[in-house]
Amino acid sequence: MLPNQLLLKFALRHPLPLIGTIVLGFSGALFNGVSTMLMIPVVLGLLGQEINLKGAPPLLQQAFASFEHLVGDARFLTMMACVLVAILLKNVTSYASTLTSGHLSRALVSDIRKEGLRLLLDVDLEFYVKTKVGDLINRLGGEVGATATAIRTAVQMLSTVITIFVFLIILLSISWQLTIISTVLLAIASLSNSFFVKRAEKFGQQLSDQSRDYSVAVLEMLSGIRLVKSTASESREYQKLEQLIHAREDADFRSQANASLIPPVNEMIGILVIVAILLLGRLFFRGQIEALSAILLTYLLILFRMLPFVGQLNNARGAFANLAPSVSVVNEFLRRDNKPFMSKGHIPYTAMTEGIRFENLSFTYPGHDRQVLNQVNLWLPKGTTLALVGSSGAGKSTLADLLPRFYDPTAGRILLDDRDLKDFELCTLRQSMGIVSQDTFLFNDSVRNNLAYARRDASDEQIIAAAKRANAYEFIVKLPQGFDTLIGDRGVMLSGGQRQRLAIARALLRDPEILILDEATSALDTVSERLVQGAIDELRRDRTTLVIAHRLSTIQTADQIAVLDKGHVVEIGTHADLLKQGGLYAQLHSMQFSEEPQTV
Ligand code: ATP
Repeated sequence: MLPNQLLLKFALRHPLPLIGTIVLGFSGALFNGVSTMLMIPVVLGLLGQEINLKGAPPLLQQAFASFEHLVGDARFLTMMACVLVAILLKNVTSYASTLTSGHLSRALVSDIRKEGLRLLLDVDLEFYVKTKVGDLINRLGGEVGATATAIRTAVQMLSTVITIFVFLIILLSISWQLTIISTVLLAIASLSNSFFVKRAEKFGQQLSDQSRDYSVAVLEMLSGIRLVKSTASESREYQKLEQLIHAREDADFRSQANASLIPPVNEMIGILVIVAILLLGRLFFRGQIEALSAILLTYLLILFRMLPFVGQLNNARGAFANLAPSVSVVNEFLRRDNKPFMSKGHIPYTAMTEGIRFENLSFTYPGHDRQVLNQVNLWLPKGTTLALVGSSGAGKSTLADLLPRFYDPTAGRILLDDRDLKDFELCTLRQSMGIVSQDTFLFNDSVRNNLAYARRDASDEQIIAAAKRANAYEFIVKLPQGFDTLIGDRGVMLSGGQRQRLAIARALLRDPEILILDEATSALDTVSERLVQGAIDELRRDRTTLVIAHRLSTIQTADQIAVLDKGHVVEIGTHADLLKQGGLYAQLHSMQFSEEPQTV
């Protein structure tokens, strides 16, 4: 879809404010034109000047004729009152038009934001691997605002064009010769604006790029604030961001300098047009200038009142060009055809009866050549535990990510009770799974709300029971406000082990049928590890569990252990079987045993 089509698509979703803005613009133009047209004859009449309407446009003659039954000052005073009413109506419609276009603009911002948010929630994880969060926040914030302004500018341009059109008709009815000349002169003036418009677009692109770079850099700095502080890199980070701020300031200045040139240039050209018309009028109406002075003055006044609208149109062209890059960014962002989306499946998932089969599973990350999983065949019966072990990079996390369909296999399939995972509704399927990983995510909210995140209807009793089973109750009640304590961004107020136990309690509360565990107890001390391990054992009980094991001591009781090496399953069996085989598992085991004798 072209950016302009995007603007039209969103604008058409709000037909009433859109039509309102245009109709009000048109009415304003009409009142403006009528009041201007009557102004000079009325003023001259009030000053006692003889008005000769011979040769005046029929429109003006008709307007005068409706007041013919009145005599003397009464006639011109009544006409003046009409002019004032027309000016009042023009201002009322212009106020209403501003409100309506403001409403349209706000509605458009909300619409685009909502569509952007929906897209962000629908799109696959793969999209996030390639896209920076700062960039996304910038798109949803500044760029959407700029796009809405672009739409509003386009609507205003339309209503300005209507106004100019109405003025032109009045001018044509007064003198078509002068109007042709003034139109040609004004068109040349507008063409000369193209230079500024082109530059406005270039500066708009620079501004858009720099806003993105700045947002990305700030977010990255904030996400890595611990690293920044621990390496005492504050001043380096500050300088990097300072440069970005200055670069943006410079681009903003260039953009403003260019945009500010448009009005004075237009005004000068407008004055030149007026002078030219005056001179040409003298030439055309030589000999009858006295008689036609009222009409010529009216013409000039209308032209004079029209010029700001021509200027406005030219300014709007510049502003629109300046905003066009943001429209392109938002257009690109809202496109769904170039982003990854999972097929959603159609069968609601209810319960498993037999188990999960990984069948000839191969996987390559999108956009990469290297196969990360190669012909993996595994069988995980219901209610049992399958542990994945292997060296770093062997493909354990990748295999675990295929189960909740964060990615789909490139070849082979995963069967749940003999039915392809892809057939199940994605939403109900994921609801049946609980994932507890090493990098536990906690919201900046109370302990209670963090626990109940996956189950909003959980009662206090259920929350407390889950916390107790996860060995988390004791530390929670010791927090300043117990379950109502706010735990800070990502749970910074808690220790690693406490965060993990909260994550486990959350999973217990959710009570998932299938559990995916990324066991990471290496960062914890022995007491913490024991508490976490106890909580994990509680969580695993009677569930179908896939465990990524980093410490072999924690999975010795697993029903099956699969050893992965470079994407292949090289060994499978129980702890005792694998030790007996004396293969890779036995090697890994003896290595860990010598490194960490206390944990085995
Ligand atoms: P670890 O024990 O260190 O977590 P792992 O066995 O879980 O390792 P994976 O994380 O599954 O290994 O990674 C397997 C391979 O896939 C690695 O070579 C890794 O570089 C690659 N990989 C992981 N994630 C991506 C990604 N999003 N895009 C491309 N390649 C990836």
